[in-house]
Amino acid sequence: MCSGRVDLAFVLRAFSNGMDGVFIGGCRLNECNYSTHGNYDALNMVLLCRKIMEHIGLNPERLRIEFMSSAEGILFAEVMSEFGNKVKELGPLGKGEGIDHNELMSKLAEISKLVPYIKVMKNEKLASRLENPEEYDNLFTKDEIDTLLSEVISYYIVPDKCQACMTCAQRCPVEAIVGGKNLIHVIDQEKCIKCGTCLEACPPRFGAVTKISGEPVPPPIPEEKRTIVRKSKER
Ligand code: SF4
Ligand code: SF4
Repeated sequence: MCSGRVDLAFVLRAFSNGMDGVFIGGCRLNECNYSTHGNYDALNMVLLCRKIMEHIGLNPERLRIEFMSSAEGILFAEVMSEFGNKVKELGPLGKGEGIDHNELMSKLAEISKLVPYIKVMKNEKLASRLENPEEYDNLFTKDEIDTLLSEVISYYIVPDKCQACMTCAQRCPVEAIVGGKNLIHVIDQEKCIKCGTCLEACPPRFGAVTKISGEPVPPPIPEEKRTIVRKSKER
């Protein structure tokens, strides 16, 4: 119903499925029937997605958002016709930009996995309300997005420090932490959405969770080495 429901992941999925262009239609800004004003969210998401598209070599003009009322049929027809012609002019996705198809698909898959991370990192800007179209281009800069995507943060539990208190596993919103009683906990990097909750949740006296930026995450310790033998039980 609302353009604000159009998630960044939906747009990336459309391109991954071979769409040459994506159009999002929203109600006019400041004319939302509700207090939510989701069309501003949609606008910010599009501004972010365009910069991401530039980062992976796609022409950002393949993604367009327009705001209009349901009474503006002629305007809608004109905009769609113009956008359709623009997409035809740009050519098939990737080919028009000279990117190898497999390389493009792997880049889109990589970015899609980072959507929760990107949303957490850019949360404040995504929630902002730009009143002036001249501000649109500067909400997200190319350098900012290049840095965000080249220095992706990861979280890692240092095996020697983990005391298996299970707090992080209980707080992880996506059940990405494997562990149990007396078992050193391990983050499943495939499931982790990089929200940082485990870093905050791990008691400071243990300090077992670390943040890694721009470096590979050490491999998880083997399952047979995860059991913690408490000193009182050794005796
Ligand atoms: S960073 Fe967030 S998603 Fe990842 S393991 Fe920690 S709590 Fe779970
Ligand atoms: S909160 Fe810290 S000490 Fe507790 S299980 Fe998680 S990583 Fe280990």
